[in-house]
Amino acid sequence: MKKRLFTPGPTPVPENVALAMAQPIIHHRNPEFIEIFARVNENLKYLFQTKQDVYTLTSSGTGAMEAAVANLFSYGDKVIFVNGGKFGERWGEICRAYGVEAIEVKIEWGRAVTPEEIKEQLKKYPDVKAVLVTHSETSTGVFTDVKELSRIVHENSDAVIVVDGITSVGAHELYMDEWGLDVVITGSQKGLMIPPGLSFIALSEKAWGMVERSNLPKYYFSLKKAKKALQNGDTPWTPAIALIVALDVALKMIKEEGLENIWRRHEKLSKAVREGCKAIGLKLFGEPPSYAVTAVYFPDGIDKKEFQRTLKYKYGVTVAGGQEHLKDKIFRISHLGYYDEIDIVGVISAIEMALLESGFDEFNPGDGVRAVQNVFAEYEKSKLTQNDDEKFLSCCH
Ligand SMILES: *Cc1c(COP(=O)(O)O)cnc(C)c1O
Repeated sequence: MKKRLFTPGPTPVPENVALAMAQPIIHHRNPEFIEIFARVNENLKYLFQTKQDVYTLTSSGTGAMEAAVANLFSYGDKVIFVNGGKFGERWGEICRAYGVEAIEVKIEWGRAVTPEEIKEQLKKYPDVKAVLVTHSETSTGVFTDVKELSRIVHENSDAVIVVDGITSVGAHELYMDEWGLDVVITGSQKGLMIPPGLSFIALSEKAWGMVERSNLPKYYFSLKKAKKALQNGDTPWTPAIALIVALDVALKMIKEEGLENIWRRHEKLSKAVREGCKAIGLKLFGEPPSYAVTAVYFPDGIDKKEFQRTLKYKYGVTVAGGQEHLKDKIFRISHLGYYDEIDIVGVISAIEMALLESGFDEFNPGDGVRAVQNVFAEYEKSKLTQNDDEKFLSCCH
């Protein structure tokens, strides 16, 4: 059976990326690899929209989150983190594990923190060293305006802003330098379209200053060691060579399509999924929506297990369930990374059929698919009437 992955990590791996990994392994001191790594490092700067070096760590995304905490802070430092979902919550857990005093801004899962809420906390705790946020909260499908949060943080404090961009990099507009983001993180099995195993982190000058002063324990994830090695185009430890070879191919694809086009594609596909779901009669969870993943309530009265089983075993479609208290309430459809229009038509069609087969029939077959196609038609039309990219992007936010 054909496997169709619609989960927000891991995400589908393009054929040419997978094939690159099947080549005989090369040695990491070999000129061939050194050339690949240099190119990857340049292209990562483009992806993050930064002049700073982007460090490639051998770990899943959480490793880069841990690296950020262990390298930036010192014992007893105070930070603010936003818990609006599982991944925001993780910032607090990592900080506490390292003896950092983490002040929680707990918001109802399913909405985004407002700039006012952050401003209020900064007034209350003027000595915080950092504000840790999640750009796209994968557990709830909610987007947070980190551009505005960054402005608020810098206007009201000396803190740095640390951004978990694990499902926003390669899906949402993100300009690390221009927006004054001090730390940006992502992972390989998300927008980068390669298997799990790499994480990425970039730091501003100001954040590097904190790294110099940090006294928390660290070894494998020492960014000072990574920085020293990178000065010679190297890594402090054996890199995950095969994944970096794959990353090289994936980044070339990203450069070829162009970041702006990729952001626009994610916006379009996410809108199509939302409209498709609504046309079937499904209620969306979370606001404002992420372009990476759409969270949807299970409709009342269906056999959820049957629905998911039918999707997976009859139609080959894997979607993600909900996490923690959202476990039996929502499911999540990913459109992050290697997806096109026909993939979206397919997933909405499969959802329609699986719903009909598990006892939900308050729609006509094809309602969702038609809504999806209408969104694509709208985008085609606006492409013809608007040739100004700026205008196009701003109209659809
Ligand atoms: C996937 C993800 C992570 C990291 O998870 P890993 O399993 O360690 O890769 C962190 N934050 C967000 C928002 C994510 O989507």
